[in-house]
Amino acid sequence: MLVFKFGGASVKDAEGIVNLASVVKKFEGNQLLIVVSAMGKTTNALEKLTKAYVDADDDLHSIFEEIKNYHYAIIEKLFEPSHPVFDEVANTFVEIDWIIEDEPHDDYDFTYDQIVSIGELVSTRIVNAYLNKAGLKSAWVDVRGYVHTDNTYREGVVQWDKTRAAINRDIPGLLQKGIVVTQGFLGGTSENFTTTLGREGSDYTASIFAACLGAESVTTWKDVPGILNADPKFFEDTIKFEELSYTEAIEMTYYGASVIHPKTIKPLQNAKIPLLVKSFTNPDAPGTVIRENVVNQFIKPVIILKQDQVLLSISPKDYSFVSENQLSVIFGLFAQNQVKVNVMQTSALSFTVCFDLYPERFKKLLQSLSVDFKVKYNDNLTLITLRHYSHAALSELTIDKTVLLEQLSRNTVQIVVR
Ligand code: ASP
Ligand code: MG
Repeated sequence: MLVFKFGGASVKDAEGIVNLASVVKKFEGNQLLIVVSAMGKTTNALEKLTKAYVDADDDLHSIFEEIKNYHYAIIEKLFEPSHPVFDEVANTFVEIDWIIEDEPHDDYDFTYDQIVSIGELVSTRIVNAYLNKAGLKSAWVDVRGYVHTDNTYREGVVQWDKTRAAINRDIPGLLQKGIVVTQGFLGGTSENFTTTLGREGSDYTASIFAACLGAESVTTWKDVPGILNADPKFFEDTIKFEELSYTEAIEMTYYGASVIHPKTIKPLQNAKIPLLVKSFTNPDAPGTVIRENVVNQFIKPVIILKQDQVLLSISPKDYSFVSENQLSVIFGLFAQNQVKVNVMQTSALSFTVCFDLYPERFKKLLQSLSVDFKVKYNDNLTLITLRHYSHAALSELTIDKTVLLEQLSRNTVQIVVR
């Protein structure tokens, strides 16, 4: 059986959904499980909606209207007005009405997951209805009964045994009857609350299903021809890799290559399932294959940008040296506040860390650090990672940039720039 993942860009409009069906049609005769993300930029819009709700902003209702109108405009193009998909979509959006009628829950991340998950619940209703309309028999499955997680909201930790048992109980039978369409990015807790797996988590969902079902391969359909050495939005003359090893792909995603979610590769590597990254506009082109035993010649360095970075320096209030004990307190606070460190550096009197900005978590982290430490920070920075770098490539990249931190190892250099 095959697992396909279609991301937001592939289903951003009615044409995208028609195209999805035509890609799927090429694989008729295979058992197929399709994981779908929220449409276009819906997740960002739902994030805004969550914030507006929690902050009691006036534009809450207009943000919600815009999200609904965007989806209705798409289904109006694809279906007759009497089609049941209109009710399915409306009934899904009503969940948000119910949430925003009440006072926000104390836990922001909990609220976030209950609201943001609606994006995938709606997109999969639409895709499933359209596949059936196009004569591709498919069933809609609520992923929250299959991908079981703990209750770490916005970063649900998958409970593999429970997940594997649930998937193997039902999904093979469903696949014998037709295509299965399900939501990426979402999970469910033992108390039946919705969790999410971290932004861009739909790839991970595809990998979870593939690993549990022993799929032949996973294909993620993207708006790029495959995995490139750098983001073509920022760099010219990029090159595409025909193949990459699992290890290289893990390293790239660890440093922030956004083409695949970081947790995706490991389960596939363990189960020796190849991951294909292919273009949804050119489905016959080979794309990039990630598998075992690939040895690449890196004729150009891999360049990975992470924007919206914070660089924070922490020093003891009593001007003492930074001790191991203090580092363990500092790391404890980072872990508690779910702030993941991208780069760190210690010196005698301070400890410097670079991480992604999540405003809510950052605020709490600052509060807890300030009890025992002096903290200073810069934000709005970019972290650039170069793998398989040359010194020439490094100097070219840093021309007319202020470098605030630089760290070199044999294979990888990381710099934080303004
Ligand atoms: N819709 C989610 C996001 O935009 C998950 C995904 O697309 O993979 O982060
Ligand atoms: Mg997405």
